[in-house]
Amino acid sequence: MNSKVYFIDLRAKYKESFINKIGKLLSAAGLSETFKERDLVAIKLHFGEAGNSAFVRPVFLRKIVESIKEKGGTPFLTDANTLYAGTRGNSPSHLITAIRNGFAYSVVDAPIIIADGLRGKSATPVIINKKRFKRVYIGSEIVQADSLVSVAHFKGHELSGFGGTIKNLGMGCASRRGKLAQHSGMAPKVKKKKCVGCGDCIDHCSQKAISLVDEKSVINPKKCMGCGECIIICPNNAIQVQSNKSIPVFLENMIEYTFGVLKSKKNKALFLNFITDVSPACDCYPYNDAPIVRDIGVVAAKDPVAIDQASVDLVNREQALPNSCLETNIKPGEDKFKGVYPKVDWTIQLNYAESLGLGSRKYELITI
Ligand code: SF4
Ligand code: SF4
Repeated sequence: MNSKVYFIDLRAKYKESFINKIGKLLSAAGLSETFKERDLVAIKLHFGEAGNSAFVRPVFLRKIVESIKEKGGTPFLTDANTLYAGTRGNSPSHLITAIRNGFAYSVVDAPIIIADGLRGKSATPVIINKKRFKRVYIGSEIVQADSLVSVAHFKGHELSGFGGTIKNLGMGCASRRGKLAQHSGMAPKVKKKKCVGCGDCIDHCSQKAISLVDEKSVINPKKCMGCGECIIICPNNAIQVQSNKSIPVFLENMIEYTFGVLKSKKNKALFLNFITDVSPACDCYPYNDAPIVRDIGVVAAKDPVAIDQASVDLVNREQALPNSCLETNIKPGEDKFKGVYPKVDWTIQLNYAESLGLGSRKYELITI
């Protein structure tokens, strides 16, 4: 059976604003069936790196918060800390970045709780017994939440082709250890030229895996448990992920993490993709290039595979915008994400997710 994907476009009129249409979309997609009164509802989004402005607007989040409160739920906004040293690498800087990007309580009407704690160490292992991982490490607050509303900004991504609901869940909800495991099966590496031998990484390694040799940091891969702490802590960005995974393996890893996130949220999750400001790359960058297609609208569904498939299709049926980075695959019907990232086969994420029973690539698009 085809999964239902609900859609609103951006047309609005005096008596019905786009924000009101978001409320209608949530009702049609079954928001009230995804949580009970007094449930703690995690709204998982990306607050945007400092300098980026393509993320979903805070005023849209307020409507989602309001809709959950109307039905008796207690929403909070959440995301997990990053693996890289940026402006969201620990909870204080993550909160400051979120507020500076507009996600203040006075705007969104809900608190922010970072999903994996002060330094990204608050992770809950979830047993999944899949091909690539037996267990995955998810931000604890997301595991503990009663229900989940994923609010993804749909855009391009250099490793997954596009980033939508599946990426928002699989990578976005993973703790730092989980993120590192998806990118790499190895200990991080030290760039000796950048290391000044300050020893900060040694103090922060719980496994005593780091030592100084000739005033340069050295990581013992046999002791390293892949927590990623040293990557964030180094003030000189001298410790980096060894991205030894091929893109297909990375994508399968991300899908298995998505499976782990949703394991405790059967019939307790709703997904939204904002197909607006469709930038070519991730909101983790401190900038965003011009959108590749016009603003299209918002989709909502209970099937994470169907919603991403529908979103890709909605983007690909558009004519590319003339001032974007797209030089090929410009016409309606041509694959825009393949045009930006010719070496990435984004179908892998949808096919593997479907094979794990996460959802269906077949869908019915219902316009509200
Ligand atoms: S924290 Fe960075 S600069 Fe300091 S010793 Fe470790 S790797 Fe070198
Ligand atoms: S990743 Fe974690 S365990 Fe491994 S060397 Fe760095 S701090 Fe130590």
